[in-house]
Amino acid sequence: MAASSFPVTLQFYGGAGTVTGSKMMLKTKNHQVLIDCGLFQGLKELRLKNWESLPVDFTKLDAVILTHGHLDHCGYLPVLVKNGYSGPIYATQPTRDVTEIILRDSAKLQMEDAEQANKGGYSVHHPAKPLYDENDVDITMPLFVPQDEGEWVIINEDFKFCFRKSGHMLGSAIIELKCQNRIFVFTGDLGRKKPLLMHPPAFIKKADYLIVESTYGDRLHEERSPYEQLQEVVQYTYDKGGILVIPSFAVERAQELL
Ligand SMILES: [Zn+2]
Repeated sequence: MAASSFPVTLQFYGGAGTVTGSKMMLKTKNHQVLIDCGLFQGLKELRLKNWESLPVDFTKLDAVILTHGHLDHCGYLPVLVKNGYSGPIYATQPTRDVTEIILRDSAKLQMEDAEQANKGGYSVHHPAKPLYDENDVDITMPLFVPQDEGEWVIINEDFKFCFRKSGHMLGSAIIELKCQNRIFVFTGDLGRKKPLLMHPPAFIKKADYLIVESTYGDRLHEERSPYEQLQEVVQYTYDKGGILVIPSFAVERAQELL
């Protein structure tokens, strides 16, 4: 893509080769935008990646655009701001609101973890520090610029974008982005064709480059309805007078289950 006729580069700093830590940089000669700014989660070797510094000068970044408010798509924002980013963070209004809850929770957990590590003396760092704290979240939130779905936003002469429904969670959006007469479509996480609580994903007519979420891309859904299977488990447990424990992601999945 870096041909002289079309000098645009796309760089992945996460969310590729693994599921979490989504960060994609689109760069032209004079401008750069970051799509999603997620935290790596899961195994320790992944979480340690959150501490590696990115080869990016955050002060030169023109904008951040978020697909949705899950931690693996927004949880690295306070690190960006802590390291000099002061530009706009574009998101839908619900994504902005969910992100605030997620970031404050994340900061709190990290502060508690650091405190525990210091008390127990089991950290290799003395003192153990959180990746970011609540103050960092305080300076991050005012950078949000909420945008309605379906409206084009001009960032500068190189980039303009529009949010489209993605059906994944409250506020989630596909980003349709125009750069030098090409259309880049970043799907973010995608919902099913008929989500229970959300509108279904929007139909995008055209893309020159499609950057698509593929977490479950190599798996086929079972023929049997999940509702039937869930009903069986609930009925079985109820008949035995038992208690059903359903582990679930807290944001969106839990609401869908309920
Ligand atoms: Zn998600």
